[in-house]
Amino acid sequence: MNRHGAGEDKLLSAYDSLSRIVGREHGILPGDLRFSDFLHDETYLQGEAALVLRPASGAEIQALVKELSALRARFPGREDDLSFTIRGGGSGLSGACVPQRGVVLDCTRLNQIFDVDEDNLVIRAGAGVILSEINDHLQGTGLFYPVDPSSLSLCTVGGSVATNAAGPASLKYGTTRQSLAALRLVNASGDNFAAGALPVKTSMGFSVPDLACGSEGRLGVVIEATLRLKPRPETHALLLAAFATEQAAVDFILSLRRVGIVPRAIELIDAYSSSLVDLPFSGKVLLMVEFDGTAMETAHALERVPQVTAAVDWYAARDEKNRHELWSKRKAVSPAIKQKFPYRLGEDVAVPLTALPAVCDFARRHAAQRGVATAIWGHAGDGNLHINYLLEHSAMLPLLDQLMPELAHEVTRVGGAISGEHGLGRLKQKYARAVMPAEYFAVQQRIKAAFDPGMLFNRALDK
Ligand SMILES: Cc1cc2nc3c(=O)[nH]c(=O)nc-3n(C[C@H](O)[C@H](O)[C@H](O)COP(=O)(O)OP(=O)(O)OC[C@H]3O[C@@H](n4cnc5c(N)ncnc54)[C@H](O)[C@@H]3O)c2cc1C
Repeated sequence: MNRHGAGEDKLLSAYDSLSRIVGREHGILPGDLRFSDFLHDETYLQGEAALVLRPASGAEIQALVKELSALRARFPGREDDLSFTIRGGGSGLSGACVPQRGVVLDCTRLNQIFDVDEDNLVIRAGAGVILSEINDHLQGTGLFYPVDPSSLSLCTVGGSVATNAAGPASLKYGTTRQSLAALRLVNASGDNFAAGALPVKTSMGFSVPDLACGSEGRLGVVIEATLRLKPRPETHALLLAAFATEQAAVDFILSLRRVGIVPRAIELIDAYSSSLVDLPFSGKVLLMVEFDGTAMETAHALERVPQVTAAVDWYAARDEKNRHELWSKRKAVSPAIKQKFPYRLGEDVAVPLTALPAVCDFARRHAAQRGVATAIWGHAGDGNLHINYLLEHSAMLPLLDQLMPELAHEVTRVGGAISGEHGLGRLKQKYARAVMPAEYFAVQQRIKAAFDPGMLFNRALDK
């Protein structure tokens, strides 16, 4: 806060005028024990900020945006200090909500579920609602929200929209983008407007919900979202299959696809990752394959699977309790790695299935050449791999400047995406620029400028 000397007192009064809008108890200053909680996400990055604001409504956010613009007119040249970094649950894995300076805009108090429309199969929820609360709220309706990131007890509706969050079930049900019917956005002029529609079919020019989905908070503040629901499936059946190699595992997935069997999820866990969480057959390449649907549909799928598989070993979940235990172990992989390697970097690439084994080999080989171990898991049915570089201490961080661009080039070369679901954030922006055409970024910047010409929101992502 003292980096500019003389003008600081005035800037403090400017911050105070912002705090008054949310009520001073919801404006958190450095020195407050809670302050550092808002400076990081789930990566190793640590940010800096001058103030955290915790608004409780769209109206407060509108007032904050208008006040911020007015303050900018009074303090020319202080745009970095007078900007918002929007924050949801802070569970991101790309550094997108890690502030560089200025004001953190925490949206978690927008935590109201407004209504459920059981006939049109939608739920309308505030941006700060934690994703798992959506399905808790739907208990007894026979409906569910199918987007299931492993972080669903940490992440918010707004953050999941802004990152286009996905998860195991995206294989069958799609990502947030396919589930987002409509939203409300506060833009850089402080306008609060709705976009989208209830029917799946719309043809009304550029789709604002689609643009906001995966925008990483660069277009404005999502204050509420209308999300599509599905009938809750009658049954689930979970199989764990062990393979000798990733190639054999992928051959199995391709065979399923060819005969039209669509599981709810196909998760890959490599030998090292499975050994950390005590799953059956640890030490081998594992696939978790889950089916859902009516009892007849899952029974039929289970009958057909052995006909197409080259798995070495099979394990079928005994009952619902056992199924949940196996999923908990799958979800415990990432926290277990983070605990052992606080400086791990989790890549999140998506590749065509046919290239998946070679990309795993590429990542392992290039990491090993630099003395770095890897752990790989992910949503293999979608070709989405979390390649984790297991850095043992912070002195190894510069190695990422070699490993990340190499992987970005390889993934792009095989026709993949350098982020499948976590976003580019602060961590991957520069590598994205190295592999994507300049025109691609020029268009992105023009879209940003159309919504937020003064770069009020998440400036660090567009610098
Ligand atoms: C253990 C673990 C497992 C994970 N598993 C998955 C997974 O399976 N699938 C997956 O997709 N992700 C996963 N993630 C990553 C993360 O949980 C998602 O990216 C999630 O969507 C982030 O939501 P959040 O509310 O925590 O957002 P934050 O981390 O707070 O922010 C993420 C981005 O969203 C923006 N943002 C937040 N709220 C708003 C808003 N109201 N308006 C506009 N922009 C906003 C921020 O500015 C930032 O750019 C995992 C993370 C962890 C720690």
